[in-house]
Amino acid sequence: MYWGVDLGGTKIECAVLDEQHQVLARKRVPTEAAKGMQHIISQIGLAIDLCRTETGSSPKQLGIGTPGSVDPQTGLLKNSNTQAINNQPFYSELQKALSIPVKIANDANCFALAEAQMGAVKDQYPDASVVFGVIMGTGTGGGIVIDGKVLNGRHGIGGEWGHAHLDASGGKCYCGDTGCTERILAGPSLERFYEEQSGVKRSLKDIYAAYNAGTDEVANQTMERLIHFFGLGLSNIINVLDPDVIVLGGGVSNLDILYTLGVESVKKHVFNPSFHTPIIKPKLGDSAGVFGAALL
Ligand SMILES: [Zn+2]
Repeated sequence: MYWGVDLGGTKIECAVLDEQHQVLARKRVPTEAAKGMQHIISQIGLAIDLCRTETGSSPKQLGIGTPGSVDPQTGLLKNSNTQAINNQPFYSELQKALSIPVKIANDANCFALAEAQMGAVKDQYPDASVVFGVIMGTGTGGGIVIDGKVLNGRHGIGGEWGHAHLDASGGKCYCGDTGCTERILAGPSLERFYEEQSGVKRSLKDIYAAYNAGTDEVANQTMERLIHFFGLGLSNIINVLDPDVIVLGGGVSNLDILYTLGVESVKKHVFNPSFHTPIIKPKLGDSAGVFGAALL
């Protein structure tokens, strides 16, 4: 059996899969992050206990997915949006509390792993060896899976394309840099661009509807800009990693133009006369995080 925990800012979910990746149990508890790291660890224990009761068995090892990553040098968790565990020895404390081996990876890596092993990639391109998973949602992230294993990298930031520089027009990012991919391609960044240009606040869904209706010049600009930078950003990945498949996730990945005009835009910047990297929609939705954690 595969045991996984998805640690989010507001909820913790534990899932148990069998060897055929069928779901045996799924339980959720609140994170209650404000109560601190030790409380979060005990909440993780509670979610595991609920699955233990349901399945009648105990984990021999556990995978954990969470925003952020463990710095391989210091062992401390970094870049998490759950502030209580940032810069803390969360990983070693958790292993101590659970007394089983734990593997931890960031949520974008878990997304890529789940879609590769039991989602859209598995269904459509089962022979794919190198998979790049992209999340374009509230933030922008990415994960690399090679032959069924996550590539963490020397700094634990493998696949982190969200903070690769894309264009100065993105402005200042919370990470300290400017013009990060996230500042241009994430949902809130697209909405911000629209608001700056038009003076009107609209949701991405509405902006996209206006673009499709052809009635709103700023909506056109917003989508044309998305298409341009989506092409530039993904072509950089392809020119370096040349993955067999790219799978998109997050709210922005629901926009159909990414799979038509977006792919055309990628093609323009790929360092090859022909271009045939499949860029596909995800299958698992919100479940990818906890399933990916189990597969770690
Ligand atoms: Zn950044």
